[in-house]
Amino acid sequence: MMNTPQNITILGATGTIGRQTLDVMARHPEKFRAFALTANSSVGELLALCLQFDPQYAVLLDADAAQILEQKLSAAGSATQVLHGISSLEFVSAHPAVDTVMAAIVGAAGLKPAIAAAQAGKRILLANKETLVMSGSLFMLAVEQGGATLLPIDSEHNAIFQVMPPVKSRNLHESGIKRILLTASGGPFRDTDADALSLVTPQQALKHPNWVMGPKITIDSATLMNKGLEVIEAHWLFNATPDQIEVVVHPQSVIHSMVEYIDGSVLAQMGNPDMRTPIAYALGYPDRLESGVNTLDLFKIGHFDFQKPDTGKFPCLRLAFEALRAGGTAPAVLNAANEVAVAAFLKQEIGFMDIARMIESALSDARIVQADTLDIVIDADMHAREAAVQWVMKH
Ligand code: NAD
Ligand code: MG
Repeated sequence: MMNTPQNITILGATGTIGRQTLDVMARHPEKFRAFALTANSSVGELLALCLQFDPQYAVLLDADAAQILEQKLSAAGSATQVLHGISSLEFVSAHPAVDTVMAAIVGAAGLKPAIAAAQAGKRILLANKETLVMSGSLFMLAVEQGGATLLPIDSEHNAIFQVMPPVKSRNLHESGIKRILLTASGGPFRDTDADALSLVTPQQALKHPNWVMGPKITIDSATLMNKGLEVIEAHWLFNATPDQIEVVVHPQSVIHSMVEYIDGSVLAQMGNPDMRTPIAYALGYPDRLESGVNTLDLFKIGHFDFQKPDTGKFPCLRLAFEALRAGGTAPAVLNAANEVAVAAFLKQEIGFMDIARMIESALSDARIVQADTLDIVIDADMHAREAAVQWVMKH
């Protein structure tokens, strides 16, 4: 007997993660069906994906863009229904016909639809780490109360998930786990002199040595803020305290992270740096799926290196640990200031080292409060964005 395919909503379908998700799905048409594909405003890209994958819904955030998409789809004889706006992103995340939601919007914009999927009890494949950074406790609560299943897509967290059996206790130590070793490539400026860092250009920062990713996460990887966000993400996903998370620079990006047990065992998950591995793992879980990823050639790699991260050169990593320790709305402030800073750096309005300066200033100016409701989190995010914009205008 044939099982019916899983209905999948892809939030951020035109992005790097969205496209790789569709690539894996297309290898298993009997297992997966695109139910809804969403994007910000790129009509041409979403149109092409709709014609290829024939989803029931296409959603664009932008209303004008949605109108153009609708005309083009109907001219092409497509039956895909076009919607727009944030409430439509929530609608296709919580729709009763949806089994699985790939949350792959970049930044704070992904928060509300991810929460909607959690409340509706979906299987959530979470790439959008900013959701956990901003509202970790609220999001995890929504997952629990909604009866949702959360599977991490970030390669490090997916690796940890793979080498961490279902834990008996929410306390890591009681589950036999000593700590999490979160690996980092170190980014394109791992070996760049501290003095030269203030002069690096967006073009240089956009060249990641090992991974092909969207522009925002690529800059985050260059500042090590990506690893900082991932430390906060690991805290919420695995209930790890800041002291139980160690960042290990591993330039080859083959070990995607490790878990150290109290008996001295260290389990690592390895593979080529290709996001289709974690995507396929989460899509198929608990089964394994063909992903199209090349076989790992250990002879070609030859050796693994490990280094301590340099938080003097990369203050963003230190700031993320500080925000995690401060708790409450501090991580939301860190995230919002970082989003504004990265956008300003990409527009060449500020220098590379100003990114950390802006975030530090936002964190010290903000009034940090308990992150008890989504409104409080969104308010903290908005105020931090305003402060960060002011910072750019003053400098
Ligand atoms: P991307 O920039 O390539 O794609 C972003 C997607 O989100 C696009 O489809 C875009 O249309 C959509 N989008 C952007 N702004 C939006 C808005 N305001 N409202 C609605 N939709 C919007 O980004 P990416 O590299 O695919 O990353 C997506 C997420 O996955 C990020 O949170 C990132 O940190 C995380 N992630 C990515 C990778 C990777 O390898 N690319 C790895 C781990 C985690
Ligand atoms: Mg990662």
